[in-house]
Amino acid sequence: MWRLDLRMERYQRTYMPIVTCWKCGNVYAADEYTKKAIVACWKCGAKTRVENVGGGWELKPVGAFVDSESVHELLKEIEPISSKMTEVERIRLIEAAKCLLIGAYTACESMCYDALVSVLRRVYGGQKELGYYVQKMENDPDLKNVGRAIAYFASKRHEVDHPERVSNKLEAKNALNMTKQLIKEILTKKARAKGCVF
Ligand SMILES: [Zn+2]
Repeated sequence: MWRLDLRMERYQRTYMPIVTCWKCGNVYAADEYTKKAIVACWKCGAKTRVENVGGGWELKPVGAFVDSESVHELLKEIEPISSKMTEVERIRLIEAAKCLLIGAYTACESMCYDALVSVLRRVYGGQKELGYYVQKMENDPDLKNVGRAIAYFASKRHEVDHPERVSNKLEAKNALNMTKQLIKEILTKKARAKGCVF
């Protein structure tokens, strides 16, 4: 009787597919029944993320893979205003979050500044750099709630305008947090104050 049960259960389980290593081309069978896993090539050690999506198998190199739920978690505060952002700004913030997750901290900071400058150019006009807009924000009565974030960027603007250093994890985290706060405040306040200029 138990044999039958076992067979039924096996039938319902999903076998992992044959994986072709994205790095060395080695073809191997992943010995698991799960629908989602990270498997390692026995020849070169490169990892592949294997997931059953709608009956088909998706294989993604783990070296270039960032969990989309983690990205979503990092950006959830700005989701309500994402329709007020341009595609370029949205994608830059998504890339900033991805960079933070994989440890590309300097790139994360760069992406944050680019997204912020893009928003600031739309709101205040001109094609200036961050330093110019920090002054604009400091003098903007609408933005007094985010004085701390503005001060943060004021302290960073020299480093941003003159890229002579690399960032660590804390700096990247701070940059992303402050960028989110500022963009959220600016787009909420400015869209209301100016009757949606964008
Ligand atoms: Zn391999």
